[in-house]
Amino acid sequence: MTDTEEDLLQLSGLQHFAFCRRQWALIHVEHQWQENLRTVEGALFHQRAHDEAQRERRGDTLILRGLPVISHRLGITGQCDVVEFHGAPDGVPLRGEDGLWLPYPIEYKRGAPKAHDADRLQLCAQAMCLEEMLCCVIPEGALYYGDPRRRTPVLFTGGLRQAVSAALEEMHQLYRRGHTPKVRPAKSCSACSLKELCLPILRRRSTVADYLARAMEDTP
Ligand code: SF4
Repeated sequence: MTDTEEDLLQLSGLQHFAFCRRQWALIHVEHQWQENLRTVEGALFHQRAHDEAQRERRGDTLILRGLPVISHRLGITGQCDVVEFHGAPDGVPLRGEDGLWLPYPIEYKRGAPKAHDADRLQLCAQAMCLEEMLCCVIPEGALYYGDPRRRTPVLFTGGLRQAVSAALEEMHQLYRRGHTPKVRPAKSCSACSLKELCLPILRRRSTVADYLARAMEDTP
């Protein structure tokens, strides 16, 4: 899909895109960013995942943290919070390690599991990068939520993979055009880290009737 480094999109942008296309474009096309409590807490939560030793061995499991990943086919680059490599006969060889290993990506998330697919899309995209890099097939990974503190397994189905490819195709099109979708106020706006920049409330009040109603209210 991409020929140059400049064409690569941030893998983490998939979760923004799934949450709101406009939010993704404000961050990744216009390069605007605004921190709120959620983003700061999220960053600290991720920091804990990355701060530990980069490589650890537990029994027949090898654990790598902060592993950079890339897919030229999908046109994305990013980093995995944690990738466990399990000893498996259908795995792949790893430099410096004996035997065969199957990757199992794990993404850390602050808070509780969400109703939408943003986290699953991000994790599946990580797996698709690892598959391209290591020439293997990864059937499953997991999301680790801070509340409750446990893993939720995620199967990388054909449908989930197609959703990742379709979202990335649309993101590349928007990025190439430098286009930011218009405001579409939704319930999720109240939790959005860019709501002050995006100003959905102004748009909601932008009809002539609303303007006249406000003007009447303001008249002494
Ligand atoms: S405030 Fe709402 S419309 Fe604007 S970027 Fe955030 S979620 Fe999207």
